[in-house]
Amino acid sequence: MAECTCEIVLSPEPEARARTLWSHTTVRRHVYTPLRGLLTDMAAGRERCMYCGDNQGTDIDHFEPIDRHPMRAFDWSNHVLACSLCNSHLKGVAFPLDEDGRPLLIDPTAEDPAPHLRLVLAAGTYHPLTPKGRATIDLFDLNRGLLVKGRISAFHVTKACVAQWAGATAECDHDAATHWAAVVDEQPIADVVQAMLHQALDPVAEFLFEDDPQLLTHLRDPRLRSALLIT
Ligand SMILES: [Zn+2]
Repeated sequence: MAECTCEIVLSPEPEARARTLWSHTTVRRHVYTPLRGLLTDMAAGRERCMYCGDNQGTDIDHFEPIDRHPMRAFDWSNHVLACSLCNSHLKGVAFPLDEDGRPLLIDPTAEDPAPHLRLVLAAGTYHPLTPKGRATIDLFDLNRGLLVKGRISAFHVTKACVAQWAGATAECDHDAATHWAAVVDEQPIADVVQAMLHQALDPVAEFLFEDDPQLLTHLRDPRLRSALLIT
């Protein structure tokens, strides 16, 4: 392959330099495209935005914006698969900090959102548990109507699929059980499934699932959790 001979004119300012490099055609071809492919592969076929969990992840967002930390423009751990709404419209260059200068957003590449956010499954809404959870909900508008509607629907679909899995398991129909576990695993709004599995082990799980104790039993079943690679 011929070496690229085009010259990249770089500004002495680190922010502008990083931005120029990140958006340069040659760099995008050699870095952006394979990087997006890797992030997509890690999304396990769902290819969803790591912030809202709903839209397709079409962009690579810099969790810590280039303007704030240009040296992280090409830092693997600073790259997040995101939809254009979350990346460009809602987050943009915003990066809220607490009074000690620490990030107030949940980093989806490094942090478990569970200590910061609780998904109220039946309502489809996120409830903040910490200031970081509050800031993340506000910045990404996580309780907007379409997301809430999608989560409620995903909750009902997942419940039905888990019931099918339980029926197949009880009848020792392993192929059907594997099929239904895969359907659960591939639900497009993955945060709903993750919240169901997480909340099933919560100390107040009996209260959270009081309307459907059978569902709680299934969600705690090690065979289902193992099929979904959750312990
Ligand atoms: Zn999004």
